[in-house]
Amino acid sequence: MRAEAGPGDSEEALALAELAGIHRLAIPTPFQVGRVNAYLIEDSPLTLVDSGPNSAKALDELERALAARGHAIEDIELLIVTHQHIDHFGLAAVLARRSGAEVAALDRLAPYLARFGEQAELDDRFAERIMLRHGIPADVVAALRAVSASFRAWGSVVETTRPLSDGSELKLRERTLRVLHRPGHSPSDTLFLDESRSILLAADHLIKHISSNPLLARPLGGGADRREPTGEERPRALITYLSSLERTRAMDLSLVLPGHGQPIVDHVPLIDERFRLHRRRAEKIHSLILSRPRSAHEIAQELWGNVAVTQAYLTLSEVLGHIDLLLGDERVVEQEQPDGVILFEGL
Ligand SMILES: [Zn+2]
Repeated sequence: MRAEAGPGDSEEALALAELAGIHRLAIPTPFQVGRVNAYLIEDSPLTLVDSGPNSAKALDELERALAARGHAIEDIELLIVTHQHIDHFGLAAVLARRSGAEVAALDRLAPYLARFGEQAELDDRFAERIMLRHGIPADVVAALRAVSASFRAWGSVVETTRPLSDGSELKLRERTLRVLHRPGHSPSDTLFLDESRSILLAADHLIKHISSNPLLARPLGGGADRREPTGEERPRALITYLSSLERTRAMDLSLVLPGHGQPIVDHVPLIDERFRLHRRRAEKIHSLILSRPRSAHEIAQELWGNVAVTQAYLTLSEVLGHIDLLLGDERVVEQEQPDGVILFEGL
């Protein structure tokens, strides 16, 4: 088992970040994940990396956390969005309006943020097709749709004023942030590397206390004007994620600042632990489908039991990600049933 770093390590790591002018502001969310980390970079421009969800409680706590450091929301000059999840960017519109701050995000993410409501609706339709195809009962799918639609209020429509290309530089007075597109957890995951200090702002790409969900999501660039992917053409989120993690593993880093939880001082053993976890999970799934063919939903139930309805898509994404590893190794085949549900059979 991996030895958990003690709180002392986390405090030292946060102190190291603070020396670099980077302050963690843990903002409440209504979601199971708990608080989300925004990071205030005291530089010029005064920069906030992620904002928290669009709620009065998040805004209130953010305001107080900024005040504790002698700043107001109106002082923020640059807002950075790390990826398309509402717990991270939901407040950005309110903050941009109040502060007049520039909003920087990956160029390919900008259209999504600009048409958030429409994009979220397309995401839900995509998820619906995937869930029905992989054995989640229609009533559960309908319930999840309703939950997801109600969650949308924590997001917002955000205009990106500084679109960032992968590999480009974002220059602040005291530092340069390298923009790194590392998809997998979501299609838009963007990391920001403070190159001279080897500090990586990683959002949900790497989290210490939980393995990041490689969530099945529509590829970026989808819209009403473009044919949407069907349930058959699902993106290979876990495979994409693992190759992104490989690239991060190869980096020389002093500190990783994640989107949830504590900072990470030693990313290589943590990433290696994630690789082992995913390999073990793939083997477990393989042994389940060797005993008899099953749908992805049946596999998820076998592994995690009857999880809360809101977790059904997460666990389905997990299973399909691992099935993709097995498909890549030609250890599983798909069988489409007359009702359109896919069963997986082990080889
Ligand atoms: Zn996320």
